[in-house]
Amino acid sequence: MSRASVITEWHDAVLEGRVLEGIALKVPWRVVEDFSKLTRLSGSGEERRAFEILIRHLDQWGVPHRLHEPMCFISIPGPAGVRCNGTAYRAKTPAMSVSTDGQDITGELVYVPGGGGESAYDVFSTGVEFGGARVAGKIVLTEGMASPGKVKDLMAAGALAGIFVNPGQNIHEGICTTIWGTPDLDAAPRQPSIPVVAVNHPDGQALIRAAQGEARASVATRLDTGWRRIPVLVAEIPGRQAPEDFVLLHGHLDGWHYGVGDNATGNAAMLELARVFSRHRRRLARSLRIAWWSGHSHGRYAGSTWYSDTNAIDLARHGVAQVNCDSPGCRWATTFNHLTAMSETVPLVDAVIRATTGITPRPERPPRAGDYSFNDIGLSSFYMLSSTMSEEDRAAKDYYAVGGCGGNIAWHTEDDLMDIADKDNLLRDMRVYAASVLRVLQAPLHPFDWTRTAAEFRETLDRYEHAAGERFDFGPARTALDELDAALNTFYERAPGRGTARTAAVRRFNGAQRRLGRHLIPVNYSRLPAFWHDPAVNVPPLPDLAPVLSASWASGNPAHEGMLRAHLTRGRNRLVWALEQARETVQA
Ligand SMILES: [Zn+2]
Repeated sequence: MSRASVITEWHDAVLEGRVLEGIALKVPWRVVEDFSKLTRLSGSGEERRAFEILIRHLDQWGVPHRLHEPMCFISIPGPAGVRCNGTAYRAKTPAMSVSTDGQDITGELVYVPGGGGESAYDVFSTGVEFGGARVAGKIVLTEGMASPGKVKDLMAAGALAGIFVNPGQNIHEGICTTIWGTPDLDAAPRQPSIPVVAVNHPDGQALIRAAQGEARASVATRLDTGWRRIPVLVAEIPGRQAPEDFVLLHGHLDGWHYGVGDNATGNAAMLELARVFSRHRRRLARSLRIAWWSGHSHGRYAGSTWYSDTNAIDLARHGVAQVNCDSPGCRWATTFNHLTAMSETVPLVDAVIRATTGITPRPERPPRAGDYSFNDIGLSSFYMLSSTMSEEDRAAKDYYAVGGCGGNIAWHTEDDLMDIADKDNLLRDMRVYAASVLRVLQAPLHPFDWTRTAAEFRETLDRYEHAAGERFDFGPARTALDELDAALNTFYERAPGRGTARTAAVRRFNGAQRRLGRHLIPVNYSRLPAFWHDPAVNVPPLPDLAPVLSASWASGNPAHEGMLRAHLTRGRNRLVWALEQARETVQA
C-alpha cells in the first residue's frame, strides 16, 4: 500500500461502526412524509414551514444552528402557454425566463433539432447547434430541457423566444439563467432576455410538424422575478481537536412541487446526520457544518452562493471539504454510477462506498451544477447526485436522462411524490454520507490524494497536446507538472506518521493539503478568479486550455489562429503558475 492510500483509507472502525449503527429511518422518514405535503418554492410560506420542521428537531436535540435570511434574486414561474394554428398547448416556463405578463409574443416558428444529452449531467450543460439555420427574430423550437446552455445559445442567435420539447409525457420544471447565484455587475447582462417555455413530447411533435409547414406561433409567460428574503439554515457541531477546520455538508431544501426525491430525502438525510453526529460530538476532531439552502431551484444556487460569498475567507482558510447531498434514497437506485468526486477524493469515495454498501461506485468529474459554489475558492468536493438507477433499468423502462431523483423521470414534475422515495435505499445512502463525512472529520491527515489530481491533469494535457500537434507547446506545463508530481511523492513519503488533528506537524501537513486545493481546483474548474462565480454552463477540464480542441487551427484564418494562440498562452501561464505554487506549497 502506498503512503497516499494509507492516508486516504484511514478510518476509526469503532467510531464508524457506532455512528453507522446509530443512523435510523424513524426521524428522516417522517420528515420526508411531512415535506411531501409542502410545495417548497424559494422564500414561500410552505418552504418556511419545512425549515421550521428541521429547526424544531435541531432545537430538541440541542444542535447549535442559525437561520439566515439573505436578500437574493429569485424567480417563481407562473402560468405559460403556446398557441399555433389555432391550437393551445400546455406549457411551463422555467425560472428566470422573461415574463410577457401573460401577453402573446408572436413570430415565425423555426425548428432546430437538438438532443437532450446522454447523461444526467448533460441536462444542465448542453447547448444548441443551429446548423446554419437563421433564427433571429423567430421563435425557436428545439428538443431538450430549457437549460441555461441552450437558452444562452438562443439569446446569442437573436431568437425571439424559445420552445423546448421535453422528452416525455411530463413537462419538467427548471431554471434557464447562466447567472450563478445572485447577479453581480459583471454577471447581470447575462440575465435571460427572451421568453422561454417547455412543452411535452406529443405536443412538441405537433409543433414540429407545424413548423415544417411554415407556421407562426405565440408564446405567453408569467413570472414573479425579483429580490426577496430566503432562508438558509446552518447547523454546526464543533469539533474538539481542530474546531476551526470544518466539513460542509449541504443540500437544497427548496424545490419543485412536492419534491420528494429531489430533495426531501436529502434534507431528511442531513437532519439524521445532524442527530447522530451530535450524539458523538465529544469524539469529533473537526467541526461539521450542515447547511440547508433555499434559492437553488429558483435562484440558480442563490443560497449556497450567498454562503460562499459571506464566508469566503473562512472557507478558503479552514474548509476541508464540501459534500453535497441531492436526491439520495430514491426508488430503484441500485448503483452509484453517476456519483461525482474531484480526483483527490476518489480513493476515499471508492473505499467508503465499497465498505458501507458493497457497491463499486463510478465517480465522474463534477459538472458545473448542484450548489458547487466553492470551486473558485478551491474546496475539495465530492457527491452531487446520489445513488441512481442502472443503465439497464433505465433502458428497460425507456427512461430518458434527468438531473435527479435517482434517474426517476418524476424529477422536477408533479409526480415526484412518496412513491419515489425508498426506505432501504435511504438508509443505505445516509450511511454512505455518514461514513464519508466522518472519515474526513476524523482522519488525522486529510484523506485526499493529490497525485490523483496531477494524474488527471496529465491525462487532460495529453488529450490537448494531441489535438494541438506541433502548433502549440505544452512543454512548460508538462515540466511544471513533473516537478509537482515529484514534490508530491516526497510530501506523502514524509507525511507525519503519528499525531492527531491538533498536532503541529499534522496541522502543517493539512494546511499544505488545503492550499493545494486552493491552487489546483480553480485552474481545473473555473475561469474566473477566486471569489467570483463562473456561469452555470459546462466547464471542461483545465478550461483555459480546452479551446485547443476547437477547429480554429484548421480554419486557415490567421485572426482565428492568432486569438486561439493568445488564449492558450495565457491559459498555459495560469496553469504553470498554479502548478509552481502548488509545488512550493508542498516543499515548504
Ligand atoms: Zn436537486
